[in-house]
Amino acid sequence: MTEGKLRAEVIATALKMNELGINQGTSGNVSARTHNRMLITPTSVVYGELRPDDLPRLEFPTPDFPGGVIAGEPDWHGPLAPSSEWRLHQAIYQAFPRAQAVIHTHATFSTVLAIARREIPACHYMLGIFGGAPIRCAAYATFGTQEFADRAVEAMTGRSACLLANHGMVVWGESLKHALWRAVELETVANQYYHSLLIGGPVLLSDDEMADTAAKLDGYGHRPGMADE
Ligand SMILES: [Zn+2]
Repeated sequence: MTEGKLRAEVIATALKMNELGINQGTSGNVSARTHNRMLITPTSVVYGELRPDDLPRLEFPTPDFPGGVIAGEPDWHGPLAPSSEWRLHQAIYQAFPRAQAVIHTHATFSTVLAIARREIPACHYMLGIFGGAPIRCAAYATFGTQEFADRAVEAMTGRSACLLANHGMVVWGESLKHALWRAVELETVANQYYHSLLIGGPVLLSDDEMADTAAKLDGYGHRPGMADE
């Protein structure tokens, strides 16, 4: 896929995220990896007004610019500054080589659980699409900081998603479509888990049952070449 097409797809994904009701206003952000850099939604701009060339491009760290940062600022190019959560996105690409897209939102039920600092236990077999259960809740850190990014990556060990304490959620996928699908599924299970708590709490799946479904679901929702459509 050309960078131009990928830029258009990042914007389309951000718009779709709002249409699907998993994000409000400009609180969430979307990025896609392209070679040794990422394209990310800019800070505080209404997605409907974005044009492909508006997306900032951030270079990943090199020996010359450790952390991708020059004098405390990200090494970015474009007319608009990157989302304040660029460190979160960058840390995920660095930690998970299969990650090609990252979506961060304040989706309601994921955030309800994150506010209560609850993880999502093995309450539904679909958690297998994230590598298993639980979906952990990352320890609290101030948004936009490296500590926030590091804690999220830690909570995503062996997973492609986590909740972010008193904040929201984040997922990665092997394409933008794949990441969007995972974001919707995570919010759906968060909603279902929340409601199960209201009727006495879930009966949890065993480790063996979860391991079985996780193995079966690996790769589910992602067709090779999907990113090139
Ligand atoms: Zn946020």
